[in-house]
Amino acid sequence: MVKSIGPRLAAATVVALLPVAATMMLYVARDRIAPLPAIAAVGMSVGLGVFTGLGIARAWRRRADRLDAIADAISRRTLPSHLLPDELDEISLAERHLLDAADSVVTDVKALNEQREEFEAILRSMYEAVVVTGARREVVMINGAARRLFALQPDADYRGRDFVELCRDPRVQDFIGRAGGTGGSEPITAELSIQTPMPRSIEVSSAPLRQGQPNSERVFVFHDITRLKSSETARADFVSNLTHELRTPLTALYGYAETLAKGVDDRETERRFLGIIERQSRRLARLLDDLISLSDLERGLSPLKTEDLEPLHLLEEAYELMAERAGRQGVELKISRTANLPPIRVDHDRLHQVLINLLDNAIKYTPRGGSVTLEAHTREATNGASGTPAPGIVFSVTDTGEGIPAAHIPRLTERFYRVDRARSRDLGGTGLGLAIVKHIVQMHHGSLKIESRVREGTIVTVWLPLGPAPAVP
Ligand code: ADP
Repeated sequence: MVKSIGPRLAAATVVALLPVAATMMLYVARDRIAPLPAIAAVGMSVGLGVFTGLGIARAWRRRADRLDAIADAISRRTLPSHLLPDELDEISLAERHLLDAADSVVTDVKALNEQREEFEAILRSMYEAVVVTGARREVVMINGAARRLFALQPDADYRGRDFVELCRDPRVQDFIGRAGGTGGSEPITAELSIQTPMPRSIEVSSAPLRQGQPNSERVFVFHDITRLKSSETARADFVSNLTHELRTPLTALYGYAETLAKGVDDRETERRFLGIIERQSRRLARLLDDLISLSDLERGLSPLKTEDLEPLHLLEEAYELMAERAGRQGVELKISRTANLPPIRVDHDRLHQVLINLLDNAIKYTPRGGSVTLEAHTREATNGASGTPAPGIVFSVTDTGEGIPAAHIPRLTERFYRVDRARSRDLGGTGLGLAIVKHIVQMHHGSLKIESRVREGTIVTVWLPLGPAPAVP
């Protein structure tokens, strides 16, 4: 119960006047003062005392109300009202100091809240998974990326749960154990290949939140480097494949040139060796041409130069260029002319390259007596850019060749991937033809399909959308 100060002040006034009243009564008893004036004086003193006391009590209550308002404002983290009377006594000065202190506390709390919100927004939008653990390894904070990495519920409250229980991969658990071991006052990092909840390569670091304090809270940061790792592996594979591809013709060139330099006895051998040198040089040149094309495509160096072209015109151009070669190899090259095909907006040179690469393969891998058919017709299919069905043109190259075992088909567009490496080399292949085709088709937002039956033949179809020009990559 709140006790008012008024009655206490009134009681204090009465008590303070008691000695005066007693003296007065003594003087009245000895007839030194008449009783009435004495009683009137004491009564007036008591009345004035009580009146002044009540005034002071009211002033105190107002102060108490103001202090209450300040406390209330602080607890609501709002700035208190600065309405103070212009009094200059000690308590008013103390009130002013309290107001100033309240101002700075509220301002600091606001700034801290803003910082916390910014910090939480940064954590939410971070690509890295971040988990803060307490001294007993319990989760204090976990961001969205960490929930995704460890396949946790997006909204569940994991605070207080043991972090080791939440991440089920033994390598991560082991890392958390090491981070907390030996007092855990040092930052540690590791690169881990985890399997649970899904195979991933991660780079993880852990550091104490408070520098140099053993057994304190720790922050764990997990960086998913799966893509980086696979592109590193792809790069390493590419370099190793390329070295291999370059070494074979170079070794032949070097060997035959050296033998010729030493001198050979008969003209026939000399001619044969020079023929090999010429073939290997051409192979090297082809390989370099293909590498340059592929690297330009991959780096997006040369944008598409699109124009409206007649599909039949494109087929005929490719046919004319390859018919003679097909004839030399005993393969019949046919062209199927579908009438009234709408013009298509493509990069002429790029599409020509696609058709030549496909025809080159079809002729290469079709034995004598077989045939290769070049065709174009309209078809609706899924647009590679928008993902919606769209009208387009299908270019297809069908051969009656050796075919491709089904297991190899998904990998044919990888750089240097061949079904039979030695055979492709003997036939002058670089292993880059279909990789180039795939890139060009993707740049046109089209799709590539390879269907084949061993010893029956292969159909390669390229679908390109009709309609607006594809965006420049
Ligand atoms: P390459 O220069 O070796 O022909 P590509 O990238 O053009 O390289 O083709 C990759 C591999 O796909 C070839 O080595 C071959 O094994 C196979 N291939 C491509 N087209 C055909 C086809 N029409 N018939 C049989 N095999 C094919």
